Amino acid sequence: MKPATDILLNDFKRQWAETSGDVLAAVAGVGESGWYILGQEVVLFERALAGVLDRRHAVGCASGLDAIEVALRALGVTNGAKVLTTPYSAFATALAIVRAGATPVFVDVDDHGLISLDRCQDALESDPTIRAMVPVHLFGQCVDLGRLGELRDRFELAIVEDCAQSIGAAFRGRLGGTVGQVAATSFYPTKNLGALGDGGALTTDDASLAARCRSLRDYGQTGKYVHDELGLNSRLDELHAAVLRRAFLPRLASWNERRARIARAYLDGVFNPSVRPIPAPDGSDGAWHLFPVRVPSASRDAFMRHMQAQGICTGIHYPFLIPHQKALAGVSFEVRGELQRATDIAATEVSLPIHPYLRDDEVARVIDVVNAWAVE
Ligand SMILES: *Cc1c(COP(=O)(O)O)cnc(C)c1O
Repeated sequence: MKPATDILLNDFKRQWAETSGDVLAAVAGVGESGWYILGQEVVLFERALAGVLDRRHAVGCASGLDAIEVALRALGVTNGAKVLTTPYSAFATALAIVRAGATPVFVDVDDHGLISLDRCQDALESDPTIRAMVPVHLFGQCVDLGRLGELRDRFELAIVEDCAQSIGAAFRGRLGGTVGQVAATSFYPTKNLGALGDGGALTTDDASLAARCRSLRDYGQTGKYVHDELGLNSRLDELHAAVLRRAFLPRLASWNERRARIARAYLDGVFNPSVRPIPAPDGSDGAWHLFPVRVPSASRDAFMRHMQAQGICTGIHYPFLIPHQKALAGVSFEVRGELQRATDIAATEVSLPIHPYLRDDEVARVIDVVNAWAVE
């Protein structure tokens, strides 16, 4: 029989129940300050975020999408510049590249669904006009940061790391977002550090890049009513900054630990040969934004229906490759080599529930229901 309560992919009501005191105090603080845009709260949050992510500067933006665009424009990656990236990610990754005026160059992914640095190296060796890259630390797992740094140095790459799913993730002790000149993250509510609405940020060690990003997020203003270039309106609100700093950022480490514990329970407990978890790549100490498994493509719908019948929500990240999306028709982009692995993973991936408010009995229930499934 189906249990009375569903197991959700994200449980914002439980998060509210546990955090509302801190959230409401943060909201009251902003209300009492009488200052809603680009005030002390954004400054304080940026400082706190930069500290947690081990960079000198953080710049709050209105979304993760904007943070990537602003970062690329600040690095001068515009005007048809070729940007290596992955075909298997949130559409926003490629959209930000296109919006910056640059040209995405898609290469295949590895067995973990992360952009293949081997394929990147092939592309860089064969085409010296590629000078930029937006790698994605997908599912919360880190791309090999040592190798990424080697590519950056050897090919003098401008790199914006897309850390929207990986805040807090590390690779052999080094934090994600510390190899690229700039890293971008998202505070979309489902992300590991989610706001009560949209938000994003970029981080960098370079003071002049940070200043350029601050200008770009605010109409390109360099001084009051002084516009040196065409920017965006992409400011992080004081309200979001206050809630993030006072209520959510202090919980991020324990939230990520809880996600990692759930991931270990799934990895230990799932023994159904038709449901194969995608483990963390060697060296990645992941943030476990998602817990992806692979099932036979012809049975994916049946698997998801089986889970739903037992009250367990699942998702697909992602069913379509970015270069196949209609929105890119008529847009300049390139595909280097076959996208075989990306195609295979997109056809077989299912995401199991993993969020910090999932209880142990629910994790056990997910494992039991997964193991009880038989391919028809
Ligand atoms: C969510 C996400 C984004 C976009 O962030 P928004 O804040 O929704 O604009 C970009 N890249 C990846 C990998 C994401 O998961």
